[in-house]
Amino acid sequence: MMAMKQRVNLMAILGERGYRVTVPRIMIARLLEQKPEGITAQALCEELPSVGRATVFRTLKLFLEADILCKLDTMGGSPIYRFCERGHHHHSVCTMCGAVEELRATKVESLLRAISDEIPGQVVGHRIDLYVDCKNCPRNGKD
Ligand SMILES: [Zn+2]
Ligand SMILES: [Zn+2]
Ligand SMILES: [Zn+2]
Repeated sequence: MMAMKQRVNLMAILGERGYRVTVPRIMIARLLEQKPEGITAQALCEELPSVGRATVFRTLKLFLEADILCKLDTMGGSPIYRFCERGHHHHSVCTMCGAVEELRATKVESLLRAISDEIPGQVVGHRIDLYVDCKNCPRNGKD
């Protein structure tokens, strides 16, 4: 398949996989699609007052299980949830503006293979996110 950069529709993916399409799920999915920088659970609840807190959390869990959502730890803040394309990837998170990018760091994968002898056990998964000052956020005081 060629990489068609079409707008991915979260609910279509869920439907494809046999998940029930409910109104709160659609509302949460739409909001996530509008937030490429990600959103905290708290902010989701605030933006969708008609959807109960418990439903928001349950839905986030379901989206995570469905592998269409990434949970990102922010430095010192609440985790943010972000709709991500499918497939294994890592993230870079700007510590200044919060911009998130997906990256496929193949060298990270080979590094992990290379150090597998030093890892006490069989690695079955990993999460590596990088915290950066993105190119739009030059460090203060450099000039
Ligand atoms: Zn992601
Ligand atoms: Zn930035
Ligand atoms: Zn990886």
